[in-house]
Amino acid sequence: MIIVLKPGTTDAEFDHVIERIHQLGLKPHISKGEHRTIIGVIGDESKMQAQPLQAIAGVEQVLPIMKPFKLASREFAKKDTIVEVGKVKVGGGHLAMIAGPCAVESREILDEIAGSIKKSGANILRGGAFKPRTSPYSFQGLGEDGLKILREIGDKHDMPVVTEVMDPRQVPLIERYTDMFQIGARNMQNFDLLKEVGQSQKPVLLKRGMSATVKDLLMSAEYVLAEGNPNVVLCERGVRSFEDSRRNMLDMSAVPNVKGMSHLPIIVDPSHATGRPDLIPSMAYASVAAGADGVHIEVHSCPEKALSDGPQALLPPKYAEVMKQIRKLAEMFGKKY
Ligand code: PEP
Ligand code: MN
Repeated sequence: MIIVLKPGTTDAEFDHVIERIHQLGLKPHISKGEHRTIIGVIGDESKMQAQPLQAIAGVEQVLPIMKPFKLASREFAKKDTIVEVGKVKVGGGHLAMIAGPCAVESREILDEIAGSIKKSGANILRGGAFKPRTSPYSFQGLGEDGLKILREIGDKHDMPVVTEVMDPRQVPLIERYTDMFQIGARNMQNFDLLKEVGQSQKPVLLKRGMSATVKDLLMSAEYVLAEGNPNVVLCERGVRSFEDSRRNMLDMSAVPNVKGMSHLPIIVDPSHATGRPDLIPSMAYASVAAGADGVHIEVHSCPEKALSDGPQALLPPKYAEVMKQIRKLAEMFGKKY
């Protein structure tokens, strides 16, 4: 950590800063220039990150050298992490092809969708049983009945399943049925929820919050990792912007950016990122080309009757077409799934 003092700092202020550094058991390395003094602090930086040193009179800036996320950082692990969701590997060259309806609606509908996406090459089945809806009057999900259906249909079609958890109190219930927890965009900074899923060893699909920076996303992953759960898969699903012709703004360069910053797998969700079926195929292809470790697409056999996110759902034949192209791209980029 580097502390930059303001020009004209008094000797008393300087002495106070040095005293605080010693109090924390760290060593100052002082560099006095003509106009400014810069103090390099040697020792465990995390001790200082917890202190509001900017508040000390005379301090202009406190610059961390280490990243605030450690376990999630590329420095922590040079090799890409591979997360196992049931029998499916994600990361390190293995692609997660997650598909399914936004919400579990009935056994029959999920069975039909699962059968078709499996045939097309999907390897993980998704479906929400607890839905984070903007309106309290919209369909909120089937709850535990939905979890039971998801488990049954996932087993029937030999696909691991992922479903959203919205509240720390739901974790034990959902853990009984799912192979992977989904933390939705709206809960990316629900820190109690992150700590709770961090106590489990089940993989976590952590979606980027709609106004979260890449650093915020990695800090949220750090919460899960710090609790002892190393199985985190990140998900870029677009962020809010001034642009309103699509649901969100897909930040595609976040994928290679995150790959440089972290060893964790990152997938892309073009469904929630665009909200438009006409744009999902091209963004799915771009995701693989950008180096994503998987693609998450909502599919429904009858979008016009879907209880949630119908307008953005792909029909099963369209999903089959998309997967055909993705298979070629995967081969071209040396990815397996
Ligand atoms: C979802 O996956 O259905 C969902 C609600 O996604 P997000 O949290 O990205 O909006
Ligand atoms: Mn959805």
